[in-house]
Amino acid sequence: MHYDVAVIGGGPSGAVAAAELAKAGHSTILIERNLANVKPCGGAIPLGLIEEFSIPDELVEKKLSRMSVRSPHGRTISMHMPNGYVGMVRRERFDQYLRQKAVSAGAELVEALVKKIERSSDRFTIHLSRDLPPVEASYIIGADGANSKTADELGFPPNDLKVIAMQQRFHYCDELKPYEELVEIWFDGEVSPDFYGWIFPKTDHIAIGTGTEEHRHNIRQLQQRFVEKIGIREKPYLDEAAKIPMKPRSSFTQQRAILVGDAAGLVTPANGEGIFFAMRSGKLGALAMIEQIRHKTPLAEYEKTFRKLYAPIFFGLQVLQSVYYRNDRLRESFVAICRDQDVQEITFDSYLYKKMIPAPWSVQMKIMAKNVYHLVKGC
Ligand SMILES: Cc1cc2nc3c(=O)[nH]c(=O)nc-3n(C[C@H](O)[C@H](O)[C@H](O)COP(=O)(O)OP(=O)(O)OC[C@H]3O[C@@H](n4cnc5c(N)ncnc54)[C@H](O)[C@@H]3O)c2cc1C
Repeated sequence: MHYDVAVIGGGPSGAVAAAELAKAGHSTILIERNLANVKPCGGAIPLGLIEEFSIPDELVEKKLSRMSVRSPHGRTISMHMPNGYVGMVRRERFDQYLRQKAVSAGAELVEALVKKIERSSDRFTIHLSRDLPPVEASYIIGADGANSKTADELGFPPNDLKVIAMQQRFHYCDELKPYEELVEIWFDGEVSPDFYGWIFPKTDHIAIGTGTEEHRHNIRQLQQRFVEKIGIREKPYLDEAAKIPMKPRSSFTQQRAILVGDAAGLVTPANGEGIFFAMRSGKLGALAMIEQIRHKTPLAEYEKTFRKLYAPIFFGLQVLQSVYYRNDRLRESFVAICRDQDVQEITFDSYLYKKMIPAPWSVQMKIMAKNVYHLVKGC
């Protein structure tokens, strides 16, 4: 069977891309290796994403406008988002919903593992598991996550897989009651020497996790320490772990193939946010492919647009991570700076809608001075 486009991977990036292409009338196959897969993920999404992709209320288990950050010395800064919230979704439901939307738009969904891809002058031949016949497609979208088989098969430059993250799900218990309506982030070297720990409440459980640069620290021990520090005595009912690629590949476009989401390395440093960028890249990638099919516009436009929109955010967060995540003294300073109302406002605005609106000059100067003060003072 021949398709205009084969989308490999049925996570948020692939499902959104397949829906766009099918909606535009292009024959599209969406290939997912395991439809029952539960992607290890905190499931925190910003309001801007919920609005743009019309995510229904029943999928957003919690809308949290309260957040707190905790320093290595246990200092806690409480914050409130007056104009928005962090939505909490559960990936087993969220991904299924997005795939269903792609199917409703006309995409064909197939459960199979992509094992091999062959390329000829005008098409790709995709070899599948389960003895299914090979599929042919004129174009490919690789949406198959951090360890992308598509990228390997098509010879894209390597993905800088930086962080390994682990998360455990706990049923509510007395120790976790205070977190029922609150997102809490721990900046604490014992919990993570180079990333952070998170506490994300859902309807019937709380997801608690931490991350660290791959191969440098023992993620299980860090997670255990985190759980001990919170004081949880109950056992988790689910452990999950996966890699987070927090640096875009040096190129994620070829003449007839593109990578989107984690496959392209589109997770922001410092906060490890990937769902928004997966869905945005899926959409931008699909729109560029539609332009290529119809008007021969180069697919490189997709990468150009993505970088133009989001490179400043990736850069800013990379700087923040390299300055403040190095040791507990700097983490203490970082949490102290979070007390500033203007810092909170800028952080929330850029998180919720991914827009970098420059603060007035006087505010920038004040924040700069506070940065210097806390960096020197160390708290
Ligand atoms: C522990 C953890 C917590 C996180 N928390 C958050 C968070 O709170 N908020 C946030 O925004 N981001 C978070 N992230 C990042 C986020 O999960 C990812 O950025 C996001 O899932 C990327 O979506 P994607 O569609 O690109 O890839 P994925 O969600 O990884 O989807 C890839 C899909 O491809 C399929 N696949 C892989 N190989 C093949 C193959 N050969 N053939 C067919 N199918 C294949 C997989 O089964 C999978 O369904 C977290 C990540 C981790 C590990």
